Parts: sequence; structure tokens; C-alpha cells
Amino acid sequence: MSQAGENASPVASVQKPPVVEFRHVGKTFDPGTPRQCVALEELDFSIEDTPGRGEFIAIVGPSGCGKSTMLNLLAGFKEVYPPSCGEILVHGRPICGPGIDRGMIFQKYSSFPQMTVLRNVCFGLEINRRKLGTDQKEIVSQARQWIERVGLGGHENKYPHQLSGGQQQRVAIARSLILKPQIILMDEPFSALDEPTRLEMQKLLVDLWQEIAATVFIVTHSLVEAVYFGDRVWVFRRNPGSIQKEFRDIPPAVPGMAPLEVQRSPQFLAMVERVAAEFRTTLDHQQVCA
Ligand code: ADP
Repeated sequence: MSQAGENASPVASVQKPPVVEFRHVGKTFDPGTPRQCVALEELDFSIEDTPGRGEFIAIVGPSGCGKSTMLNLLAGFKEVYPPSCGEILVHGRPICGPGIDRGMIFQKYSSFPQMTVLRNVCFGLEINRRKLGTDQKEIVSQARQWIERVGLGGHENKYPHQLSGGQQQRVAIARSLILKPQIILMDEPFSALDEPTRLEMQKLLVDLWQEIAATVFIVTHSLVEAVYFGDRVWVFRRNPGSIQKEFRDIPPAVPGMAPLEVQRSPQFLAMVERVAAEFRTTLDHQQVCA
């Protein structure tokens, strides 16, 4: 055995693959037609596995710079997947479509209108019952726990239209998190909410995130929200869509602390200003796709 082999720690030698890896990913819509649109080009990044913690990646950029396309590709949605070039890997394996390891939360409340809160939250476990080996009693018990966790205890038998926007988004969060996805994709999840509700949801998400330790990609129009959530903030540029700048030296969101308290600190506001200055430079790139 070589010297290096004798000294190598067995733990160090088992290098875990990144949680998510984009290798030179590009996406062109309607190629070869007059409507051709290069939505993404040369997206190349790797998010390392940080067990027991996860990472929060916040994505901002001008409209049409490919933010949603990136999330939808990673979700494996058939409207967008596969990429036109490059490769997308999750835990070292190429993805080939959606999977329960990736949960998506949209801006529009994505619950089934004809189902109660309880049925909505049970749904994901029910359709994956065979794969997960969970019986119905356990499914209902887990759903009730998640409904409590997102602050909807007592609303189990209501239908989505009987809930406020913030409550509907809580249902969407419970529906997604009950499946314990290692990767959570959020596309403008709170932008339809009023400011106080949005702050409540920000706190809820940070508190829950401690527990689920997932890797979260969140697209947001709010630079304050991006800096609040992000371990990293990516500023995208358009034509073609790509990461213009990554900010990593961001103070972490503190669970249990009121978002407004964090967001008023001079250190926080200085970081928002840095991101805003970068964002402004992306506006020089005119949108060319429809
Ligand atoms: P963002 O989320 O940053 O606003 P999108 O990812 O939605 O941007 O869109 C990036 C570009 O790709 C836009 O120019 C948009 O019109 C185009 N695009 C997105 N989805 C499709 C699609 N399914 N078919 C054709 N073009 C699309």
C-alpha cells in the first residue's frame, strides 16, 4: 500500500457527489424557427452536499433571463426538459424527469381546489405509497403533523378557496415538504402575498428549513428576500440567460429571529445594495426573446 493509501482516512476517501450539478447546460426554445430563443447558455455550477444543513441559493435577475427555465429543467418538467445541451445531475446521477427528491412550490397556489387541506397534504404520499411503503394511517398522521407545523391546525377540513393567500401557500409548503425532498425549488413563492404575510412566510420557511436541511433554490423579485434567504445569491443576466455574479459572503438567516429585525441591520442593507448594484448592470442587456 502506498504512503498516501496508508494515511488516507476512510471518511475522506468517500467523496460525496454534489447535490446538484449543471454541466454546460443550455436551453433553446423553438430552435430553427423565427421564434428561436436562447433562454439559457453555459450554465455550469455545482452545489456541494452539506449533510444536516443544506444550502439556500437565491436567484434574482431581470424578467426573461431564464430563472424559471433553470428551475423547471432541474424539476425535470416535460414542458422544458431536457436541456438543449449539457447535463443535469442530482447526487451524481443524470436526471431523466421529475422525482420525489425534488419538490416545487410555485407563486400560484398549487393545491387541488376540490380537495380539503388534509387530502391535499396527504396526496403526495398517497400516490407514492407503494414506493415509500407508508400505510394510510401513517400518511394521515404525517399530514396532520405537517399541517400543524405550517400553522394550519384546525383548518384540515377546509377547501383551498376557504383560505387566505398566505394559508394556501402554507398548504403548498406542507404538500411539498411532507415528501422530505432533498431539493426544494421555489418560483416566486411569496410574491402574490401582502408584506406582513410575506414576512410571516419568510420566517416559517427559515424555521422549517433548519429541520429539513434541504438544498433550496428560490427565485424571487425581491432583493431583500434574496439576501435574507440566500447562502448564495445569483444575479442572472439575459440574452442569453446565465449567472452573471455569485455573492457568497452573506450572513445566514437566523431561525426564530423576526425577518424585519434582520433586514433592517446596516450590514444586511449594505449587502442588498451590493446585489442591487450588480442587478442594475444586467438591465443593459435588452430582452430579445418574446
Ligand atoms: P424568467 O423566469 O427569468 O423571467 P423564463 O425562464 O421564464 O425567464 O424565460 C426565459 C426566456 O425563455 C424568455 O424569453 C421566455 O419567453 C422564453 N421561454 C420560456 N419558456 C418558454 C417556452 N415554453 N417556449 C418558448 N419560449 C419560452
